[in-house]
Amino acid sequence: VEKTADVIIVGAGGAGLAAAVTAHQNGASVIVIEKMPQVGGNTIISGSAFNSADPDRQATLEMTDLEKKTVEGIIAAEQTDPIVKEWQATLKTEYEAYLASGKTTLFDSPTLHKLQTYNGGDKQGKPELISTFTDNTLPAIQWLESLGMEFKDSVFTVLGALWNRSHKPVKPLGTGYIETYMNYIEANKNDIEIMVDTTAKSFIVDNGAVTGVNAEFGGAKVTLHANKGVILAAGGFGANVDMREEYNTLWPSLKNVKTTNQSGATGDGTVMAEEIGASLIGMEYIQLLPMGDPVTGSLSGNIEQGVQNRIFVNKDGNRFVDEGARRDVMTQALMKQTDAYMWVIVDQHSYPTGDTKNNFNETIDDLVAAGRAFKGNTLEELAAQIGVDPANLVNSVDTFNKAVDGTVSDEFGRTLFADKIDTAPFYAGARVPTVHHTMGGVEITPSAQVLDKDGNIIKGLYAAGEVTGGIHGTNRLGGNALADIAVFGRIAGESAALAK
Ligand code: ADP
Repeated sequence: VEKTADVIIVGAGGAGLAAAVTAHQNGASVIVIEKMPQVGGNTIISGSAFNSADPDRQATLEMTDLEKKTVEGIIAAEQTDPIVKEWQATLKTEYEAYLASGKTTLFDSPTLHKLQTYNGGDKQGKPELISTFTDNTLPAIQWLESLGMEFKDSVFTVLGALWNRSHKPVKPLGTGYIETYMNYIEANKNDIEIMVDTTAKSFIVDNGAVTGVNAEFGGAKVTLHANKGVILAAGGFGANVDMREEYNTLWPSLKNVKTTNQSGATGDGTVMAEEIGASLIGMEYIQLLPMGDPVTGSLSGNIEQGVQNRIFVNKDGNRFVDEGARRDVMTQALMKQTDAYMWVIVDQHSYPTGDTKNNFNETIDDLVAAGRAFKGNTLEELAAQIGVDPANLVNSVDTFNKAVDGTVSDEFGRTLFADKIDTAPFYAGARVPTVHHTMGGVEITPSAQVLDKDGNIIKGLYAAGEVTGGIHGTNRLGGNALADIAVFGRIAGESAALAK
């Protein structure tokens, strides 16, 4: 088989499909190849939170003193990068204007999002990419809405997001994104073709420029030519155990750690790009979550509904970490607990009724019936069910509740609170470390062009999504991936479609 389109896209997850829609909106014909039998990638099974400062959806949130201290600390922190220092100066101006306005609602801005993204990745992300990223999250939400996607009216704080700016789609998991893109693609199927079960193997390079993709469909060769450009959107390598072992330096061996990823997340795109001289950046930074199902490693069965209203306890019933911290910090702390095993504890604030669903479209009653969550009318009853010391569990919750009302400062330095855990029924769900995301990958410019090892642009090649590196540094903030793939997917689609 041999085909030609203006833009060829490798991977039909969130980044590839956002790029396909945008390339078409900019006048290009598009072919997307996907190695799995269905589209969606990790995006469709993700928690789906999308971070963006959003004055409308944040208008009902009050700012606490602890949150003010967080902003003040970010403004005052020592920074050396000149771009980052400029962000701090901008943030100071924005925050002073906010204070002068007398507003009491939560402060937020793309600038605060930049600094939290940069600091949260240990200053290893590239400032120019982070800038492009957070300046374009709200436009990306508005663009998704223009395509028919619906988000809830309020935001929340997803695990490791550090701030209350995570948008939640109305549809469960990542289905809202993928359905939105597929509706557009279906309506324009004369110009956008999706080829599933088709695996990209290598790039076609002509005179230093990428002009197409060599792929395979059931053993048969598929040759795809691009008039304008090729977009690499093949996702990360979280499901490739050998590749994880090759690059991992931050964690003990991850050989036996399960993953939240779909089985197609094997890093093919990164390898293909490296073969033609692309620069890879941050490959050693692998993200684990403390939120894996103990049997499968997947996110399903996770009973938390956001950061503010839950605590974690170990097998002794004791808290062990700031549950509002970075994902790497929480997972490292979990690894030090007995059997690297913990219980998420919530109360009626998270599940007002038994048919309230978690983020993965599961009701709490169903999870309890299936033995995947436990329910007690008192904390003692819950402790007995999950086999932890009741006195310890009661004490953990009591001490947490005192930090919620501010009578004591939290023993783990936690700053994100909403309600006390004080209303029956109480629920517990077990969780273990799981591999979730690979921060490293192909190095790109702010216009999503791929760079070679000398820092030169590889003509004809664009990349977006988890296959890229250099944005999230050592640790990606929760809720930043769906935002990143939409933002850079759009940029890649536009850049490729408009290429000369
Ligand atoms: P992102 O969030 O960056 O969009 P996803 O994991 O959602 O990442 O999507 C990446 C997609 O790319 C997945 O559907 C995956 O199966 C697909 N993919 C990975 N390797 C290849 C390949 N060699 N050829 C075609 N598709 C691929």
